[in-house]
Amino acid sequence: MKENLKESRYRHSLGVQDMASHLAEIYGADVEKAEFAGRYHDIAKCFDQEKMDEAVRKYNLPDEYIGNCALAHSKVAAEILKIEFGVDDEEVLNAVRSHTTARPGMALLEEIVYVADAIEDNRNYPQLKALQKQAETDLDGVCLIIMDFTIGKIYEKGRVPDKTSLEAREWIKERIGKK
Ligand code: FE
Ligand code: FE
Repeated sequence: MKENLKESRYRHSLGVQDMASHLAEIYGADVEKAEFAGRYHDIAKCFDQEKMDEAVRKYNLPDEYIGNCALAHSKVAAEILKIEFGVDDEEVLNAVRSHTTARPGMALLEEIVYVADAIEDNRNYPQLKALQKQAETDLDGVCLIIMDFTIGKIYEKGRVPDKTSLEAREWIKERIGKK
């Protein structure tokens, strides 16, 4: 894996592995699966556009991912793990698949990896420590904060967020409201 990722991306992957492990312990998810998904979630992140498009075609992923590395890298990563590494655990594959957009109805393991991706120790923003602490007792709350932030950033750039991420946010909002 180290060969395929830049040093910073490699550190990030180990950071997500550790944070996913920590959250899995707290919330009673499968720690090994969380660590594995965390470690490999960005395995296709360093593909350039050409290599990514090739992979999208090779793995028969929808055409909407052509030319869109940001969305494609998680779907391609899951296919690499499944087809090249022989990973057949759907929970792990889903956690990798949905780490960029999240997903309405996502499982605990997916939420853990989604959150861990944003709050691992190597991230650098003012609210990091506070979010890490909050995530230990309020995973859904932190998940929503990350979604709001990520979706907000996309609008700021004048782009339209992926439909799945908007639906995921509505889903988690509803769940928080119900509690
Ligand atoms: Fe990623
Ligand atoms: Fe990541």
